[in-house]
This record gives sequence, C-alpha cells and structure tokens, in this order.
Amino acid sequence: MARRSKTTPRRAPSAPAAADSPCPCGRDGSRYRDCCGVFHAGTAAAPTAELLMRSRYSAFAVGDTGYLLRSWHSRTRPAELELDPAQRWVRLEVLGATEGGPFHVGGTVAFRAHWSEPGRSGVLEENSRFVREGGAWTYLEALPDTPGA
Ligand SMILES: [Zn+2]
Repeated sequence: MARRSKTTPRRAPSAPAAADSPCPCGRDGSRYRDCCGVFHAGTAAAPTAELLMRSRYSAFAVGDTGYLLRSWHSRTRPAELELDPAQRWVRLEVLGATEGGPFHVGGTVAFRAHWSEPGRSGVLEENSRFVREGGAWTYLEALPDTPGA
C-alpha cells in the first residue's frame, strides 16, 4: 500500500473515545469503532434492545448527548441533557433481558452501570424498558423494581 502521509487529511475522531480503544460497553472485547461507535456514528441502528442499551451506556461514557437524545423515546425524552464531566462510567454489567429482539416491538434490559468521580463511586442499577419508534429501538423508561428482587 502506497504511503500517502502528505495527502491523507487529518481527521478528528468523531467521539472522545479513541476508535481503537475497547468499547466502553465491554462487549466481547470489541473495539469502540466496531461496536457502539457504529451506532453513535449513525452508520447502523442497534438491532436489539440490549445493543441499544449498551450503546446508550457507551454514549454516557464518551459524552455523546446527541446520541442519547436521539435514542430516547419522544414521549419521555428530556428537552436537553447535560452530563456531569466529573462522572466516569467505568463498567457495565448486563444482568438479563426479555424480548427486545429483531422481531419484537418492545423489551426490557436489566443492567448495572458502575461509575466513579473524584472521591466516590457507585452503581446505577436499572431495569429499562425499550420500545420501537419509527422502527428503531428507543429507551422508554426505567421500570419499578422487579417483584421479588
Ligand atoms: Zn459497545
């Protein structure tokens, strides 16, 4: 392959996460650009509720508020969204999912999202409901605690 270092334009990464870094969502050691980065860039739409959930977690991790708003159901989407720059999302655990597949119109995904900020850390645990809107998966709402949990 010919070297084109003089003519290749320098391109800024589209997101703060380096494209070759492991994806924040932690899926199978995927690189960000092959995993949630594809959805953030709009190249493809998340085919399942779980992948949408993972991509939303990653959007929190890389600070992509535009993607978070785009993937939020219009009924529950906030008018604007401001992320706390001191808060780092360090790890995601997907605990389970119901429906949410390519042929479903709704589904739920339960997860734990670990965060840290200077001086403290914590875990957000949520069972989220996702529904399709205009064919694409969107985040609808957090469900109340599962009975028996
Ligand atoms: Zn990912």
